[in-house]
Amino acid sequence: MSDLSNICLPCGICCDGTLIGFVELENEELPRLKKIMDIEDERDHGFFLQPCKKYCNGCTIYSERPKQCGKFECGLLKSVEEKELEFDSALDIVNNAKQLRISIEKKLEVLDFELKSTSFYFKMVELKKVFSKKELDDTLTQNHLKLKKELIELDILLSDKFGVTLY
Ligand code: SF4
Ligand code: SF4
Repeated sequence: MSDLSNICLPCGICCDGTLIGFVELENEELPRLKKIMDIEDERDHGFFLQPCKKYCNGCTIYSERPKQCGKFECGLLKSVEEKELEFDSALDIVNNAKQLRISIEKKLEVLDFELKSTSFYFKMVELKKVFSKKELDDTLTQNHLKLKKELIELDILLSDKFGVTLY
């Protein structure tokens, strides 16, 4: 039987770079957070890139996590909390998203895309731009098309179920 208390425990896709590319930080929390995590500074506005280095099967700085992290609730979590969605159905959706990510990453390992990004989220942003170029359509192999299909599937899943448009 699944843990009925919190869908975030088996999920974590807002911390591992699947759902979100970066987390913005509030100015007043920067001094405190700089002591416990790596922060990118840009004109006084702090942020950090995902995947979060503090994520390891859960947030390892939970009680000290940034405000933005504490406030974030995706659509899936809200649906479970409001009892519109059963926990196990939500878990199936989470696992589907994770499987799609794994499958996309495996395809990327063997396909000849030169992507600048290291994070999964920003790789998806780059890929979406690549696939949107109509002039490339005739050059795409079957494997490219399978990758494109999964990318679209993940995009729709994240948008429909988690309420976050990826890219
Ligand atoms: S259910 Fe939503 S808020 Fe919770 S970990 Fe997953 S993506 Fe994040
Ligand atoms: S600080 Fe914690 S809650 Fe925030 S992104 Fe990192 S692991 Fe997730």
